[in-house]
Amino acid sequence: MQSSYDVVVIGGGIIGSAIAYYLAKDQVEVAVLEESRIGLKATSAAAGMLGAHSEYEGDGKDFFTFARYSQALYSKIQDELYGLSGIDIGCKKGGILKLAFSERDKKELGTILALPTVTWLEANEVKNLEPDVSPHIIGAAYIEEDTSVLPYRVCQAFFKGAQVYGASIFEHTKVLKIQKQQDTFQIDTTLGMIKAKRVVIATGAWSNPFFQQLGIEQQITPVKGECIAVEGRSTLLKHTIFHDKYYIVPRNNGELVIGATMKGNDWSEHVSLDGMETLIQKAKELFPAVGQMKINAAWSGLRPQTFDQKPFIGFHPHDDAILFATGHYRNGILLAPATGEMIASFILKKAVKKEWVEAFQMNRPNRR
Ligand SMILES: Cc1cc2nc3c(=O)[nH]c(=O)nc-3n(C[C@H](O)[C@H](O)[C@H](O)COP(=O)(O)OP(=O)(O)OC[C@H]3O[C@@H](n4cnc5c(N)ncnc54)[C@H](O)[C@@H]3O)c2cc1C
Repeated sequence: MQSSYDVVVIGGGIIGSAIAYYLAKDQVEVAVLEESRIGLKATSAAAGMLGAHSEYEGDGKDFFTFARYSQALYSKIQDELYGLSGIDIGCKKGGILKLAFSERDKKELGTILALPTVTWLEANEVKNLEPDVSPHIIGAAYIEEDTSVLPYRVCQAFFKGAQVYGASIFEHTKVLKIQKQQDTFQIDTTLGMIKAKRVVIATGAWSNPFFQQLGIEQQITPVKGECIAVEGRSTLLKHTIFHDKYYIVPRNNGELVIGATMKGNDWSEHVSLDGMETLIQKAKELFPAVGQMKINAAWSGLRPQTFDQKPFIGFHPHDDAILFATGHYRNGILLAPATGEMIASFILKKAVKKEWVEAFQMNRPNRR
């Protein structure tokens, strides 16, 4: 292992991999240190929705513009990443149908229905698109632009692309401690000491030890999520269907991903029977045909949540050589390209929209 780098990124999930990609592409000497294997934590648990609209709750236009920007970056990078890595990120077109079962549900969709890229469809119009959807819906908000991808593949494509551009990736390398001596960081890892001029913390749900070491008074709380993948004989869902934070996402190979539970402050990483029961019940409400389908897999992951459910992307308040990119909660897959580009822009002193800097900085005010 080389012992000194310009930038060391700690954490090799989709966020760390995207950061390494954008830095290496701009000829920065970068290494990623990953405790286990690249992309195996929250990243591989994700359903992969690029839900810029569907996750919008009307609180913070800056989050929405950032999410839309990241969503648009996906169309730009998918061929680029394929050319470099040979990995198809599995972009699934069709969009999301946010279902309404009552007038109250429809009213709750009011915020996203006010967006020009979202359309209200009556029940018969939804059934024309998805004949096997629940007969009890009254309609749906249709968001064609909220496509989906295969999260683990995106992460692999970023990391392989980063390697092609010269990044070094070290798996099974846990960072134990970071210390600064003059202008150099000494990073103590399970594989020995590494030096760096700058460090980026991209450790998702496991960021708190770094906050403590680096004097940051913030916290990441895990929100455990479980999913099931099923496969049917003939029923083919073309659109993601979504209701009340639960969803069914179709893959290009016909598999359906049913997600996801939300268990706050739960560090356990096993799939629970209660979680499965909730998902199966909810999936049958949305799309009754799933009841007959074959279960292919079940898994869980920890979403990294901040106090306001928006990520931290920016500098340490007192040291420009330390950057954070963590706390992406329900939207790390969606936000990965824009996060990677933003961190690279900070390091390369390129312009970043002021409103995004302020919206995601570490010491933003707690308005909740
Ligand atoms: C069930 C579920 C469904 C989801 N669905 C979606 C979705 O549809 N769309 C969407 O946009 N988002 C979704 N998400 C959220 C998304 O998965 C996360 O926001 C995203 O994966 C966070 O990426 P990350 O790289 O920050 O974290 P992770 O993928 O968890 O990566 C962090 C990495 O840091 C490593 N690490 C930690 N500590 C150390 C250390 N000391 N030294 C070295 N390495 C370390 C870990 O091993 C890990 O690999 C979902 C999440 C879950 C759980």
